[in-house]
Amino acid sequence: MFATLISNARIFDGVSVVSECGHVLIESGRITQISLMEPLSPESPCKVVDASGCTLLPGLIDAHMHVFQDVQLLEIAMRYGVTTVLDLHNEPEWFKAINAITRQRNDVADVKSACYAATIKNGWPSAIVKLVSQEPDIDDRIAKWPDLTDKKSVEEYVARTKAAGASFIKLMQEDGYTIDLPFPEVPVPTPSFELQKCIVDTAHENGLLTLAHALSNHSTLLVLKAGVDGLAHVSMDPVTDELIQAFKKNNAFLIPTLAINTSCSGAEQESREKFASDLEGEEKEHLCGCMHITKKEFSSETAYEQVIALKEAGIDILCGTDTSIDLKGTRSGASVHHELWLYVNRCRFTPLEALVSATSKIADRFGFSDRGKIEEGRLADLVLVSGDPVQSIDALRDIKGVWRNGERLAQK
Ligand SMILES: [Zn+2]
Repeated sequence: MFATLISNARIFDGVSVVSECGHVLIESGRITQISLMEPLSPESPCKVVDASGCTLLPGLIDAHMHVFQDVQLLEIAMRYGVTTVLDLHNEPEWFKAINAITRQRNDVADVKSACYAATIKNGWPSAIVKLVSQEPDIDDRIAKWPDLTDKKSVEEYVARTKAAGASFIKLMQEDGYTIDLPFPEVPVPTPSFELQKCIVDTAHENGLLTLAHALSNHSTLLVLKAGVDGLAHVSMDPVTDELIQAFKKNNAFLIPTLAINTSCSGAEQESREKFASDLEGEEKEHLCGCMHITKKEFSSETAYEQVIALKEAGIDILCGTDTSIDLKGTRSGASVHHELWLYVNRCRFTPLEALVSATSKIADRFGFSDRGKIEEGRLADLVLVSGDPVQSIDALRDIKGVWRNGERLAQK
């Protein structure tokens, strides 16, 4: 692979703007040299990209997706500058197949997976999947999901999931309280506090980070008390001091997933359409469509207030969308841009804070020391945009180049 020199770029390194006219050398898939002022003159031949008037950023990360076996989601992500996605519940076999592809191809985003979440019989997400899935063999598939009941089953599950290549463990604490769907059992069965604590403790003993699905304050408090490291959604209840203190006690992070929150509530139709403006046909319809499954007493405004309060209390916010192929109102990559736009325009983030939430903060919290920052030695997963997204987050949409492992994505 040829070396590449990206010259004259404003550089946002994942934390701050470190140069207004800097130079980055890429060799063998890694960032090997950074000069914040003086031009670089590499000894060996290289492609030169003149990035005058552009900003270079680390490849973006979506901290909440469901990839399943849909490689096209990873191809689309790349076109939006998203070079890594976190897959928060998947069939281990599907992840294995996806992982084999991401190792061979640099035109698809990389995936870090939870593999199977820590599920219980008739709990989440089987309660909703059974209602909405069109798959004829869905019951057979669900029958293979973990049915955690006690310490022994948890130990086996964590060992198996780690062996399958999981990078973290996902907990599910969902009783259906905010969701307007005819579940077969109400409330939807949830794991006990003791079981959740056992899952967190066992994951930690195995060196795995934990994060949990929860949509209410009650569920969020329960999993925080059980010791989780982060939440995979914002709670839809009004924020309370008790909740803020519980986040602080664990130093837990929050992945708000406002992209799916607003699809479920039906809010933000206008901004969703803005991010679908370059799409056509079914793709446009999918992103502009809404799930409309939130009970009407829960609003996205309350969720924004929750995000604002947690951020202002110093809680780490990590960008994630909950995009998957069957969730209307989301689209791979485009929803990351929408999510960041919502942070800036609804949750009082500066554009810089939003960009940090989709790059270095995710890498730091998940322990990915090879990506998320523009730093010598890290992977050359990069995105180049015209203009300055640190001044205006809208500039993120004007993508001039995307690299994964130092290879530039061919423009379509
Ligand atoms: Zn999800």
